[in-house]
Amino acid sequence: KIKLEDVSKTFQTFRAVRGVSLEIESGEMVALLGPSGSGKTTILRMIAGLEYPDGGHILFGDTDATRIPVRERGVGFVFQNYALFPHMTVAENIGFGMKVSKTKRSKAEIASRVNELLGLMRLDGLGNRFPSQISGGQRQRVALARALAVDPTVLLLDEPFGALDANVRRDLRRWLREIHEELGITSLFVTHDQEEALDLADRVVILNEGNIVQQGTPEEVSRAPNSRFVTTFLGDT
Ligand code: ATP
Repeated sequence: KIKLEDVSKTFQTFRAVRGVSLEIESGEMVALLGPSGSGKTTILRMIAGLEYPDGGHILFGDTDATRIPVRERGVGFVFQNYALFPHMTVAENIGFGMKVSKTKRSKAEIASRVNELLGLMRLDGLGNRFPSQISGGQRQRVALARALAVDPTVLLLDEPFGALDANVRRDLRRWLREIHEELGITSLFVTHDQEEALDLADRVVILNEGNIVQQGTPEEVSRAPNSRFVTTFLGDT
């Protein structure tokens, strides 16, 4: 379980996150939904340990996250722009995290895990290609495989399907949900696409200007939006 207690983050003078409290249960899939600039990415980066809150606390179980080094948090991330290494093959990209991980694995162990992930992500036969030689949807699956390679307990996704066309997004969405359930992990994803959040998540957290304005199941927030902002935002397709 991950808990944010009154977490804030200010950049220079701009208060990007303003006292956010949030609990994410193990095994849950939660969407952070909100317009551009509402603080979604900053929250994700603080949970990942790439950014530090300047107010409040983030807890992993009972432990303050500031005491857990990034590599020991058990988080895997996928960012919007894939960020695959262009000079490495698909297999090398997937294996990369395992090579730099604290858990030492032999070459053979890494190769066998990479094969397993290629199968899981339906990327069989593409291991020796370079990122430029596969499609956008396939690249995003490679990014996901790379995030999963280190056996994270928490998967953090920032606009994971952002740059892809509608059909590919729909396929990947369904398939992310399957992976999430199959692996029994906790997933937190950022999106500004209300349809994606409502369709995929167990719980939707709606942000505006660094604050949580409403949270609940997709049914709850669509049935009873609690403010004009939420009504407009959810209605705005
Ligand atoms: P988007 O959907 O556009 O990615 P977001 O909801 O994820 O938006 P954040 O990326 O969390 O929003 O940014 C929140 C605010 O904080 C924005 O106004 C942004 O300009 C500002 N911000 C984020 N990172 C920094 C930084 N390193 N330095 C200064 N300002 C920042």
